Amino acid sequence: MALTGMDALLAGVLGLLVGSFLNVVIYRLPKMLERQWAAECAEYSGQPAKEEPAFNLVVPRSRCRQCGHVIRWYENIPVISWLALRGKCSQCKTPIGLRYPIVELVTAGFFALCGWRWGLTPQAAAWMAFAALLICLFLIDMDTTILPDDLNYTLLWLGLLVAALGWSVPLASAVWGAALGYLVFWGVFQAFKLATGKEGMGYGDFKLLAALGAWLGAEYLLAIILLSSIVGAVIGTILLVIGKLAHKDIPMPFGPYLAGAGLVCLALSPAAVPALLPFAFPFGVR
Ligand SMILES: [Zn+2]
Repeated sequence: MALTGMDALLAGVLGLLVGSFLNVVIYRLPKMLERQWAAECAEYSGQPAKEEPAFNLVVPRSRCRQCGHVIRWYENIPVISWLALRGKCSQCKTPIGLRYPIVELVTAGFFALCGWRWGLTPQAAAWMAFAALLICLFLIDMDTTILPDDLNYTLLWLGLLVAALGWSVPLASAVWGAALGYLVFWGVFQAFKLATGKEGMGYGDFKLLAALGAWLGAEYLLAIILLSSIVGAVIGTILLVIGKLAHKDIPMPFGPYLAGAGLVCLALSPAAVPALLPFAFPFGVR
């Protein structure tokens, strides 16, 4: 018992550090993709490539977006620095979003849970990666309505490998989950397009459901879809209450709900989901 508490604590501290890095990924990855697409467009149209300073997940160092003040190491300690600075830039006093410490704390929470459930094992590390990727997908889709392939495919392949290693579900269930997950949403997408002439979802959503199917198994697909509509209703209500439903005309992306459903499954423990949503498991679980 004492040992699992220690494992959870160490995993939680690791989660704080990883959460701090996830904040960088969430902010920079969409910008890196934009640059890449712009460069590709220029290349196809035969224009000379624009010379730009390096911009990736490591370079340049983090700066205040208002005044350009380079964040020093002691201003970059997860949660603690945000509290010490009272959520403001040390130079220009521009507020730093509450989202940064929240992402760090949520990541720490999931990591601690994995450490507590599986100890400090490779299996725990795999499920920590599952949580970290879903947190990134959740917020990037929320911000930009993009589910980057780099994250979706990493999640998908990792899910299949984790099943092959025997750390999640039977491999056959993972493979069927990935294939059917993609197919189900692709079918809904085509039917919706035929009926209304509109495109209701994106290919990123198909890939994300495929990835979740790989991690949780084909038996969980219906439960994931059900949970994602519950997550959607909860997020929608919260946004309505805090009056943040600013872009009413822009369709709310579906990705965050799917990612949220995956995180709910991890939080509850996948094995507990069939008891909570028995009607979502008409064929039982292997
Ligand atoms: Zn500043």
